[in-house]
Amino acid sequence: MSKQILILPGDGIGPEIMAEAVKVLELTNDKFQLGFELSHDVIGGAAIDKHGVPLADETLARAKAADAVLLGAVGGPKWDKLERDIRPERGLLKIRSALGLFANLRPAILYPQLAEASTLKPEVVAGLDILIVRELTGGIYFGQPRETRVLENGERQAFDTLPYSESEIRRIARVGFDMARVRGKKLCSVDKANVLASSQLWREVVEEVAKDYPDVELSHMYVDNAAMQLVRAPKQFDVVVTDNMFGDILSDEASMLTGSIGMLPSASLDANNKGMYEPCHGSAPDIAGQGIANPLATILSVSMMLRYSFSQSDAADAIERAVSVVLDQGLRTGDIYSEGTTKVGTVGMGDAVVAALRNL
Ligand code: NAD
Repeated sequence: MSKQILILPGDGIGPEIMAEAVKVLELTNDKFQLGFELSHDVIGGAAIDKHGVPLADETLARAKAADAVLLGAVGGPKWDKLERDIRPERGLLKIRSALGLFANLRPAILYPQLAEASTLKPEVVAGLDILIVRELTGGIYFGQPRETRVLENGERQAFDTLPYSESEIRRIARVGFDMARVRGKKLCSVDKANVLASSQLWREVVEEVAKDYPDVELSHMYVDNAAMQLVRAPKQFDVVVTDNMFGDILSDEASMLTGSIGMLPSASLDANNKGMYEPCHGSAPDIAGQGIANPLATILSVSMMLRYSFSQSDAADAIERAVSVVLDQGLRTGDIYSEGTTKVGTVGMGDAVVAALRNL
């Protein structure tokens, strides 16, 4: 039976980078006879323009029925003034939550060819290969109540809530340990247990889960220290597991170690490894429509999809090799450009990956 993949390009550079990723996906589909069927729909600002909401019910139903979802990015100044509940980013939170995508995997791998593109010294980042496992459907981004209210003295006050239940912590901890087990066997759990009650429970539960993984070395780190260690000595980390907001911030920080957020893919998985795959970056309205966005994060998201949702590691390896070949050829989009390399646009980069894949 064919496998259904739903493509949601989104806003800003989303459609530009997605067009390149789809070229790579279609070629991989033919080359490895994967039997994928692709369909397209809208999310985010594009969905607000079409349906008045950032995620229409019929789009969500198609996402639920699909075997995997490939997403570009959402958001942009055009929709920034809308009420919070119908803003593009709400569509993203809703689809993650409705699909039960609680585990967000964000690798930060430095391609050796790009060691110069990092703002850190090459010796600090050379050979970097970290995986950040971020809890994605709980914590402060979803906690209720959340409110902005006016106090008796007339001052406005806003608050959010940061809840974590034991089962939510346990299942994300398991993902962290499982990933560490097949990588470098080191897991660092990041929290703020010196201050937050939710973090104290987080730490206790992670310790309990660790009993099932005696082969994995567990450490704990406060988030402020982790932010510092990531730029001081990032290679000390193998797998990092953390909550929704800490993971959001730390994974963006880790992305910069690799030169550009334009290189980083991500996977968001449910309990059965059904997933949504997307670049770590946003819709980059500042460069949208110029044909200069880096499509590699989205192309590498296709490779993660093949690996995690479809167990097609040969096809995933082939895409990653093709990306490496293109970097060896010295081709660079503006965000990873350095002197002595050749600057290409979004389409040029996508075409080069397709050509490299065809020739493998
Ligand atoms: P951003 O990731 O869109 O951009 C940050 C910087 O990185 C910009 O200078 C941008 O030009 C650059 N950049 C990002 N992707 C790039 C690529 N592929 N190639 C080259 N350069 C790239 O973050 P932002 O500016 O904070 O947010 C812009 C919009 O995106 C906002 O509306 C935000 O809400 C939304 N956003 C969406 C997602 C998502 O869809 N998952 C994630 C983050 C932000």
